[in-house]
Amino acid sequence: MKKFVWGFSAVLLLTVFAGLYFKGNLQNPGVEKTEFLFDTYCSISAYGHDAEEAVDAVFEKLREIHKITDFYSEKSEISRINSAKKGEVITLGDDMYNIISAAKKVEEASDGAFDISLAPVSSLWEFDKDGRVPSDGEIKKALEICGGEAIVFDAATKTIIKNADDAKIDLGGAAKGYAGDVAVKILKSYGVGGAIVDLGGNICCVGENRDVRDKKWRIGLQKPFEVAGEYDQVVHIDEGSVVTSGTYQRFFEKDGKKYHHILDPKTGFPKETDYSSVTIVGESSLYGDCLATACFVLGKEDAEALAKEFGMEIYFK
Ligand code: ADP
Ligand code: MG
Repeated sequence: MKKFVWGFSAVLLLTVFAGLYFKGNLQNPGVEKTEFLFDTYCSISAYGHDAEEAVDAVFEKLREIHKITDFYSEKSEISRINSAKKGEVITLGDDMYNIISAAKKVEEASDGAFDISLAPVSSLWEFDKDGRVPSDGEIKKALEICGGEAIVFDAATKTIIKNADDAKIDLGGAAKGYAGDVAVKILKSYGVGGAIVDLGGNICCVGENRDVRDKKWRIGLQKPFEVAGEYDQVVHIDEGSVVTSGTYQRFFEKDGKKYHHILDPKTGFPKETDYSSVTIVGESSLYGDCLATACFVLGKEDAEALAKEFGMEIYFK
């Protein structure tokens, strides 16, 4: 991945201008499609060789990954894991294995700041509904079956074993990243000239932006807590991934206090920080996703060291 350039000043949510750059080229019109998956709007824009077929193939695969990782669907692979009994050997499908394998590496490297086994705690907060503040007792009890050895992963046999019947995993901090990497792989296999994959805060760029002279992609970063499209910074990037984890996308308010969805595994409460978002730029979107969440939880210094360890660039806003 080549170096990118930041414009202007502080920012947050990622907005892609792909559509803008594809418009008006009648000789070889670009393709732009959007679907609601992973609880967010997922858009792909592409041009060039077999672009339409490529984008369709990507969405087919994204639907599959969504189905596997959907925490709320009883039929998902993740629900099969979450409803398994303590001690049962659970064999993972390839996609699930890839996600959990990366998640476990980031969990280890971040000293548990990223923790997919936090599901029993995150469920208590009901971010998927209107949100509620759990009691200290509820959080304490749920934390007992999270972290450390709650989920024992064996890479060699591609299996996991839970250490409690109620231990559960939540891939909300990793699944979109994995989907982004898979999308890139498919788009490249079709030989598209260029493409942008936007999975709500997770952006992947492929090939060249043919409509600008420097061939770089423009990614606008939205101002925190502003309406969509209100951005004050633009990232210029070649191939690669830009992932942002922030407090301003998913939160609820109770008695005048804001509660966002990135939890500190040590306390079970939303992590309180001096910044509103962490952006990770690098090659892999799966690692970028896990790291953005992990780095949000870690202090600034540890976060910088962690990003460096994985060869990623990090930005706080
Ligand atoms: P977004 O889903 O908005 O892109 P993130 O990638 O930061 O944001 O993922 C946040 C989601 O990850 C939460 O909604 C929850 O499902 C899960 N999560 C929250 N805290 C953690 C954590 N410390 N480690 C791993 N996953 C977490
Ligand atoms: Mg994440």
